[in-house]
Amino acid sequence: MSGPARYAVIGDPVGHSLSPTMHNGWIADHELNATYEALLLRSDDPVAAIRALGSQLAGANVTVPHKEAAAKAAGWAEDDAANVLRWESDGSLTAFNTDGWGFLQALDECAPNWLREVKSVLIVGAGGAARGIASAISPHVGRVVFANRTKNRAEAAVAALTFAPGEVLPWEQLGQGFAEADLIVQATTLGMAGQPEMSWPVRRCQRHAIIADIVYRPLETRLLREARAAGLATMDGLGMLIHQGALAFELWFGIKPDTVKARARLLAALA
Ligand code: NAP
Repeated sequence: MSGPARYAVIGDPVGHSLSPTMHNGWIADHELNATYEALLLRSDDPVAAIRALGSQLAGANVTVPHKEAAAKAAGWAEDDAANVLRWESDGSLTAFNTDGWGFLQALDECAPNWLREVKSVLIVGAGGAARGIASAISPHVGRVVFANRTKNRAEAAVAALTFAPGEVLPWEQLGQGFAEADLIVQATTLGMAGQPEMSWPVRRCQRHAIIADIVYRPLETRLLREARAAGLATMDGLGMLIHQGALAFELWFGIKPDTVKARARLLAALA
């Protein structure tokens, strides 16, 4: 009998990841002959290091800072940044990006009418997660605005959009962005445990605005706390984490896992 198939989340740092809790729960639910672990990947040549993992792993999730290297390492990649890798039976590597899809699934659950109500989206940040969300949501809205500390990254994010027209909003004008958007997506590391925080201009928001923060450690960030206090609809980062993971699990095992069970397990792990 062959040993269990090995899966991992690779990144640097990676010890904080909730993915092992989520995937090992689903592996146990379905009694699969597989394991899932957190694997620190630190290398001067991450593309080569990722390719070399094919001798040990059947699949992987990829987190900061290796998403672009993961897409480059693959023979076929869905996007220029990948959060899911799958080694095929012929030894080739394929790369997927389930982050944007995961965000939309989570938004469907939190705000079922968003497709009708959201015309203008403000994305705070222009990193891998921000761009993944923008590319998933842009076919469904009229306008996507990026506000990012480093302006040229926001410009690159706009240039990469293929559907809704994109705009760059200067970081200093965040208040104006909050006032104009129907949906605000906080996709920077601000507010994450161990990272800087800031006060957000939630009082400028329209009453119907939805505030999403994709940070999930802590689950209630300062932004979400301030938005709830102002009576706004909010969405935390756990839904996106679970749905991007569920699609990864399906890509590896061909099984749709139980996302409700995953939320309970992850809340227990976070507590
Ligand atoms: P990334 O590619 O490294 O991007 C980081 C972003 O944060 C950039 O826009 C960066 O701006 C901004 N930033 C960092 N420090 C800042 C500061 N002090 N002030 C203002 N902006 C700052 O990372 P990522 O992969 O997009 O991840 C971003 C966040 O999303 C992380 O907290 C991650 O945990 C979370 N995430 C959550 C999920 C989920 O499933 N819920 C999935 C993916 C990511 P500059 O361009 O100016 O550096």
